[in-house]
Amino acid sequence: MGKQLQGQVALVTGSSTGIGAAVAQAMADAGAAVIVNFHSDKSREDAEKILEEIKSAGGDGFVHQCDISKEEEVLSMYSAIISRYGTLDIAVTNAGIQQDAPFLEMTLDQWNAVISTNLTGQFLCAREAAREFKRRGVQTSRSKAAGKIICMSSVHEVIPWAGHVNYAASKGGVKLLMQSMAQELAPYKIRVNSLGPGAIKTRINKDAWDTPEDEQQLLKLIPYGRIGAPEDIARAAVWLASDESDYVTGTTLLIDGGMTLYPGFADNG
Ligand code: NAD
Repeated sequence: MGKQLQGQVALVTGSSTGIGAAVAQAMADAGAAVIVNFHSDKSREDAEKILEEIKSAGGDGFVHQCDISKEEEVLSMYSAIISRYGTLDIAVTNAGIQQDAPFLEMTLDQWNAVISTNLTGQFLCAREAAREFKRRGVQTSRSKAAGKIICMSSVHEVIPWAGHVNYAASKGGVKLLMQSMAQELAPYKIRVNSLGPGAIKTRINKDAWDTPEDEQQLLKLIPYGRIGAPEDIARAAVWLASDESDYVTGTTLLIDGGMTLYPGFADNG
């Protein structure tokens, strides 16, 4: 990977594990200083490990604990970023959770937990990023855009998902949150896009690939014939953050091995 993000500052929420960790490392490999956000005390060690790897490869950054569903915590995370680096160039609003239940049994707490993290959390983090990008404006020495927001959506912004209505509703919400932000913020030269992962091997979906039988079942949904890796998403995140994608805004880049291609229709000729 080249250093296409050299001199820029990137926040990646929920980056102590999984896709976020890979995105944080890829952004750092591309030259950005990276804020590794983590949520709970038990994630601190993982976050520090990611930062250590970034630093030992010659990168820069810091770890910051913040529950992205809490406005005051998000505001203080942005203050910490601005006081350390003066500004921010890239916000990857990645943090997300699942709390699954059949619709008839889903509690309001399960609904609220997923919506607060996956939708409200992305709103709060994107809004603070946009405020800073608008304040600073374009600095051509940094990037052609005033700033880049990358939302973490899912194939479930397209595919309905029984047993996961809170998650599917949150990602469907992210789709129009992202597109509406993109429309409103384009005049300020702020680009807003989403990544839409399919099945990526992380702890969030461990039940879906844990045993060989589960893995075979999952592979039936993926025409390209393999489960994704966090790095598949990370490479796309760097591209969306870089000037290489300067004319791209308001788009969800699906990275799913064809999961959204209705694979059930393939043998239905
Ligand atoms: P993961 O569980 O490893 O990562 C989620 C991260 O978010 C964790 O580090 C967690 O600590 C953090 N987090 C949770 N609540 C938080 C909060 N309130 N504040 C701050 N951080 C919080 O799983 P992942 O697969 O890496 O998921 C990352 C994102 O990718 C999520 O938005 C998820 O919906 C999305 N996604 C994943 C897949 C997949 O197949 N793995 C597919 C589509 C979309």
